[in-house]
Amino acid sequence: MIVEVLVPLPFDQSFSYSIPADEIVSIGTIVRVPFGRRSIEGVVIGLEGVEVKGLKPIHGVAHKAALSKSMVDWILWVADYCLIPKGLVLKAVWGGSLIPQVATQNLIALNDAAHLEKVTPAQKKILSYLTVHAKPLLRKKIREELGVSDGVIAGLLKKGILRLITKPVPDKLLEQPALPVMLPVLSKEQEVAKQFLLSEMSAEDPCVTLLDGVTGSGKTEVYFDVIDQCLMLNGQVLVMLPEIALTAQWLQRFQKRFGFKPLLWHSNVSKAQKSHIWQAVLEGWPCVVVGARSSLFLPFQNLKLAVVDEEHDASFKQEEGMIYHARDMAIVRSKLCQAFVILSTATPSLETWSNVQSGRYKHVKLPERFKVKSGPDIQLVDMRTHDSKQTWISKPLRDALRRTFEQGAQSMLYINRRGYAPVTLCRACGYRFACPDCSAWLVRHKFNDTLQCHHCGYHASAPSVCPSCQTEDATISCGPGVERIEEEVLSFIPDARVMVLSSDHMAQNTQMQVAIEKIEGGEVDIIIGTQVMAKGHDFKRLTCVGVIDGDLGLMGSDLRASERTFQMLTQVAGRSGRHVEQGEVWLQTYQPESDIMKALSKGDRDSFFGYELALRQEFSWPPFGRLAGVIVSGSDEARVAAFVKSMCTKVPHLTGVRLLGPAQAPLYKVRRKYRWRFTILSSKETSPHAFVNAWLAKIKCPKDIHIQVDIDPISFY
Ligand SMILES: [Zn+2]
Ligand SMILES: [Zn+2]
Repeated sequence: MIVEVLVPLPFDQSFSYSIPADEIVSIGTIVRVPFGRRSIEGVVIGLEGVEVKGLKPIHGVAHKAALSKSMVDWILWVADYCLIPKGLVLKAVWGGSLIPQVATQNLIALNDAAHLEKVTPAQKKILSYLTVHAKPLLRKKIREELGVSDGVIAGLLKKGILRLITKPVPDKLLEQPALPVMLPVLSKEQEVAKQFLLSEMSAEDPCVTLLDGVTGSGKTEVYFDVIDQCLMLNGQVLVMLPEIALTAQWLQRFQKRFGFKPLLWHSNVSKAQKSHIWQAVLEGWPCVVVGARSSLFLPFQNLKLAVVDEEHDASFKQEEGMIYHARDMAIVRSKLCQAFVILSTATPSLETWSNVQSGRYKHVKLPERFKVKSGPDIQLVDMRTHDSKQTWISKPLRDALRRTFEQGAQSMLYINRRGYAPVTLCRACGYRFACPDCSAWLVRHKFNDTLQCHHCGYHASAPSVCPSCQTEDATISCGPGVERIEEEVLSFIPDARVMVLSSDHMAQNTQMQVAIEKIEGGEVDIIIGTQVMAKGHDFKRLTCVGVIDGDLGLMGSDLRASERTFQMLTQVAGRSGRHVEQGEVWLQTYQPESDIMKALSKGDRDSFFGYELALRQEFSWPPFGRLAGVIVSGSDEARVAAFVKSMCTKVPHLTGVRLLGPAQAPLYKVRRKYRWRFTILSSKETSPHAFVNAWLAKIKCPKDIHIQVDIDPISFY
């Protein structure tokens, strides 16, 4: 028998191997094969290999469980769709390295049948120790407890007096004691939503369903109940959350509801734990895996339910290396094995919304539960009337902050800019401090007195002399970041306890946890933060929210700018006054008459979507057409430009597909690489894939130039 084996290396093709007569394999079998000088683990993806002379046999079957047929189909689909070599997708499934090996431990037991003529004192110690305990003991423990050398144990093993037992290390994670369960009481509306989801899940080919409701409407409790039902049917569940929302708060809620911890899968989980989870899902154990986007690649044997929480979140798109959208890939993964998908959010992505409108997805909406009034009022502040130089907080917002502080409640200011100031320049000559490796300004950070590049991590201490004109102490900071807003707040409420929340201050998850506890405990009056604070947390004392620069997200020519701004500002506004009557939101803008600002101030999501969809339809942008980005980069500026030009002469002609560009990327230089972009726009019926494949097939890419394809791009930097 000859089979086709896919190996976890950057190849798109599979390789043929022969199967020895005593081995049984099928599609999905994990096999160990010789590859070059190595022996690696691959997966059988075809059974009709062609006999060629000198074909090598596989080394053996590597794992007793095989990948499911739908998993194999999905691997091949992802590779084709995202234009990634198939082997690299398998590599992601293997977890970046080879198949995780379960950690084992060595136990020593007495061999009853054997008998020793002459016994040394050290040997006697070991034998009587084992006799007293009357069970196998850890080799390491025997050594340490008795102070004997390993050589003595080895000698007894060799003589057959002792025997060695190798067992997997029991995993606390998978064998946890059951804790008391607190079943929530669902409201009538939640109960209706739950029944809707349960009946859809039991359908033969369940339809993707949007679970729609503002934060605090109880979406999580509803999908928890669906998970519970799924576990009762011995199914496997995947819950994907943006990394940032994977908080202790969420995990505590889960544990309270179910009495056990879910299996956590993200970058900070140890390799040993990962290997246990990997085995568990492959062997089909009923379980709930909660993870960031990489959890998508786990080899579920019996996936019945996938929940994508905060489905609109941009972090589901992997932007570097292997480019893919985890939400979209999860939907395909589930379709292939008839699993049910719940997309949960307060602010759906336009793609999801348009799928709901067209009837491809189902929709269940939860009304606000603690309905004091329909969401906090959003007041627009026209910043064109704010003329005070070097300050960024308008008079009405200042008044609101002061009032809230005096009432002993909490306020939150949102500005999506880390550091102190986004631009630093020399007053004498106008020199601007830029990153030497990127086309980006250096951001001033006051807390460690540095200038930093947010694209490559370059940082230097803030100089006191201008490098261009040598004037001393002439640098000025332009524009605000979180640190500068903190300074301004303290200038008019000096007694306020202010906390700055940004990724600079929250490098570790524990720091974030400490910060959240402080806020919940009322130790903070005013929180100033970037988008790290916009999600997932529900602060009960928070009654006032201010958005420093509502227009910030709208800058740049990105087609998703308004959608993202709308989502972000809705999330931020939703932080306020969920638990009290007098919640207020102040949104500072220079364009109060724009459609997005008007829709925001009225809390009118559906009309914003309608407006935005009409605009996209007019230009055939997604979801009405399809996009792909091709990014060409290299460190020799002239060579990259010349190569991009040569690519233009090889453009294939395909009806329904348009090529835009080439253009220098908005971020032209990153990490000393010069970047150009092409954008491919196709109608919904044709796909950009055929075009890209035909094009790239005609191009020979030199070694020092890199071509990256981004299907369904969401960022355009
Ligand atoms: Zn200067
Ligand atoms: Zn840089």
